[in-house]
Amino acid sequence: MPELPEVETVRRGLQQQLTGARIKSIKVLREASVGYPTPQKFSLTLKGKTFCSVDRRGKYLLMNMSENIGLMAHLRMSGRLIVMSENENEPNHVRVRLILDDGRKLVFDDTRVFGRLWCVPAGKTFEDVLPSLALLGPEPLAGIDPKILLASFAGKKQCIKTALLDQTIVAGIGNIYADESLHRAKINPNRQAGDLSVKELGRLSKEIAIVLCNAIEAGGSTLRDYTNASGVDGNYQHEALVYGRKGEPCRSCKTKIEKIKLNGRSSHYCPRCQPDPL
Ligand SMILES: [Zn+2]
Repeated sequence: MPELPEVETVRRGLQQQLTGARIKSIKVLREASVGYPTPQKFSLTLKGKTFCSVDRRGKYLLMNMSENIGLMAHLRMSGRLIVMSENENEPNHVRVRLILDDGRKLVFDDTRVFGRLWCVPAGKTFEDVLPSLALLGPEPLAGIDPKILLASFAGKKQCIKTALLDQTIVAGIGNIYADESLHRAKINPNRQAGDLSVKELGRLSKEIAIVLCNAIEAGGSTLRDYTNASGVDGNYQHEALVYGRKGEPCRSCKTKIEKIKLNGRSSHYCPRCQPDPL
C-alpha cells in the first residue's frame, strides 16, 4: 500500500509533469472510483480546467486546479496516477482517464478499486468534501515535536506500532515505515504507547523523518502495485533494515529479525536492538 513517501514521490512527479496542463476531456470507466460528486458532475466540473499545483496531506494528493476547483486522490491499496502520451498503451485497470490538450493523458489505474478521486467544486475546500482530512495528525517529514507525541500517546494502552499507524496521531505512516522507524529508534513495537518517555519519542520523531526522507530519495518502496507518476518502481524496499527481513540477520547486531502480528499487522523488529523492557 502506498505510504507517505510513495504519495510524496507521486506528488512531485505530478507537480512537475502536470503544472500548466489543461484537461480536454474526462472518461470515467468505473463509477465507484469517483468519490464525489457524481461521475457526470465530476467530468463536467473538471473539463477545461488547468493544473496549477499539487499538494499532499498525509496520503492524500490535493491538486489545485484553475477557477478554484480541486481534484483530490487517495491511492489506497493499488491506485496509480500515471502521466503518459495519449497513444501510449495503458495499464490494464484504468478507471478514470483525463485527456490533456497537449497530447498527453493522466490515467487513474486501480486494480482493486479501493482508490478514489474527488472533485472539489469552486467555493468548497478539500475538507468540505472529505471531513476526515481535518482529523489527520501532524505531517512527520520535518519532525514532530516529541511533546505533541507525548500528549497524543498519553494514557494509551495500545502498542506503539499500532498507535503509529493511527492517521489522527501522525499523518501518512504505514506498516513499512513504522517498523523501520521503531527499529532505528531502538523501540520495541510492542511497548505501550503511553509508556514512552519524551526522550524516546524525540528519537522516534527524528528517525521517522529520516526514514521517510530516505524513502522519498529512493523513489518510495514498490512491494506490489505502486509506481511513480511515470510508471517507474520505487527502490526503498531494498534498503529496509527490518521490514520484510524475517529470519535475516539484523544489520547492526546480526540477531535474527523477528516477525510478529500486532493488531493484525505484521511487525518486524530485532529482539536485541529493540528489547522489550518487561
Ligand atoms: Zn539488532
